[in-house]
Amino acid sequence: MQYKIQIVISPQDANNNDAVKSFAARKLKISTAEISDIRIERKSIDARSREPKINLILDIFCGEKPVSPKADFKYQDVTNKPEAVIVGSGPAGLFAALRLIELGLKPVILERGKNVSERKKDIAAMIRSKNINAESNYCYGEGGAGTFSDGKLYTRSNKRGNIFGILQRFHFHGAPDEILYESHPHTGTDRLPEIVKNMSRTVVECGGKIYFNSKVSDIIISNKKVSGVKCSNGNIYEAKAVVLATGHSARDIYELLDRKNIKTEAKNFAVGVRVEHPQSLIDFIQYHSKTARKFLPAASYSLRAQSYGRGVYSFCMCPGGYIVPASTSGSEIVVNGMSSSRRHTAFAGSGIVVETRIEDLKDFEQYKNLCGLKFQQQIEKAAFENGGGGQIAPAQRLTDFVNSKYSSNLPESSYLAGLKTSALHEWLPHEIVKRLQEAFGIFDKKMRGFLTSEALIVGVESRSSSPIRIPRNENMQHVDIEGLFVCGEGSGYAGGITSSAMDGEKCAEMIKMLI
Ligand SMILES: Cc1cc2nc3c(=O)[nH]c(=O)nc-3n(C[C@H](O)[C@H](O)[C@H](O)COP(=O)(O)OP(=O)(O)OC[C@H]3O[C@@H](n4cnc5c(N)ncnc54)[C@H](O)[C@@H]3O)c2cc1C
Repeated sequence: MQYKIQIVISPQDANNNDAVKSFAARKLKISTAEISDIRIERKSIDARSREPKINLILDIFCGEKPVSPKADFKYQDVTNKPEAVIVGSGPAGLFAALRLIELGLKPVILERGKNVSERKKDIAAMIRSKNINAESNYCYGEGGAGTFSDGKLYTRSNKRGNIFGILQRFHFHGAPDEILYESHPHTGTDRLPEIVKNMSRTVVECGGKIYFNSKVSDIIISNKKVSGVKCSNGNIYEAKAVVLATGHSARDIYELLDRKNIKTEAKNFAVGVRVEHPQSLIDFIQYHSKTARKFLPAASYSLRAQSYGRGVYSFCMCPGGYIVPASTSGSEIVVNGMSSSRRHTAFAGSGIVVETRIEDLKDFEQYKNLCGLKFQQQIEKAAFENGGGGQIAPAQRLTDFVNSKYSSNLPESSYLAGLKTSALHEWLPHEIVKRLQEAFGIFDKKMRGFLTSEALIVGVESRSSSPIRIPRNENMQHVDIEGLFVCGEGSGYAGGITSSAMDGEKCAEMIKMLI
């Protein structure tokens, strides 16, 4: 016999299997001995009242065992099947490849960066030397920007595809069971590299190919049809279907499209800073007590305000995490955030970004479709020039920024490459500064204590979304070029790991119809 029930219990009881069993038995009016197994279907925290609660939806099994939650995907041998070339091995490219295999086609992935193991060494070297390796970093390499990301696997794009199917594929490749039922699934940066390696292994073991250190430098097109790509090492890969899954950091790809007169469009995006608080402060604000945290994960937040007609919002909040240098160029600084599965550091960081519309970029009009990209680049260069050399990032106490004051010193931070005190209010664009300053005041009204001198801001969080869209038709192909499939964050139609993965899968399904 199987039952589905919902219980609302204290965080302490939710951490105790015997207590959960007792609550379930009481709710079902049966004895605990009758319960043979319990499976969590959904778990969420309700921290609105003074005493946070845990909501659990449970499947209760009496006299029977649950079947394994692990879905069994049929990854077949595609060695001799028709090929599709995928440029980029981020979530969009990898999930496109896995879906192609499921559909009986052979993916050939071209990735400019290195495999995960080599990439790890380059990232460690970058932290030590404070200098970026332009081809092997937090954005480029096996698994793309997803590999050393925070690994939050939730998305609001629930109309785009089968979110649960993506989670199941992550789970199949080594992600923990919790991602299948947590309301905000999170894998953590410590687990992702192994999961990515497992996905690549599936691709290769099924007869697909992955070529690292293979930067695509040209797309071969004749009569408005794609026929392959050329790499900067001179190799040419021919295919009737080419998937462009290069992410939004690959500026050279946008510039290539522009040079080849392949249509792109400027789109709205967002830029700002990363704010970092002591995690204990955010825990106290969100959980209303110093003790609740003992049984609860590091607290997060999601904030939004309107300021001078533009949205200002938190982005990629990483409780118990780190700030990381996520630039792809040695003369720019971009920061982002990540955390391990334990979310255990003393820091709570989040991007706070300001909506930036095309009409806000009058000074960049001469760059036409690339106007947003050039604006992004300009503030990333300004961050570099106002930093301390290499990836030593410019930072300021939050209250000093809001009061337009220089910080004589900085609080402790998780940012490993080092910080330099800098007057961000002086060199960030004024339109961004005034909105951030006002929004931080509004956020403090929503979360009392948010605006504090114990917090700092680090510049700049400029790559939260793509400033360019590569227009595509309903078959995921470029509007003007047959066979050129565009997907993922770089296409301007997706953002984040899960939504880019779904986008990649959809591309594979459209390719199946073409070849
Ligand atoms: C530090 C950090 C933390 C993040 N945390 C989260 C999170 O918790 N949750 C979330 O949803 N999102 C997060 N993101 C964003 C997420 O990683 C991206 O949205 C996602 O990876 C986009 O997937 P994609 O496949 O479209 O592009 P990408 O992941 O950017 O992958 C593109 C790939 O293409 C390759 N490439 C580029 N140009 C070429 C070329 N010319 N030739 C060959 N290969 C090329 C790149 O090397 C890269 O591997 C984070 C990002 C960062 C940097």
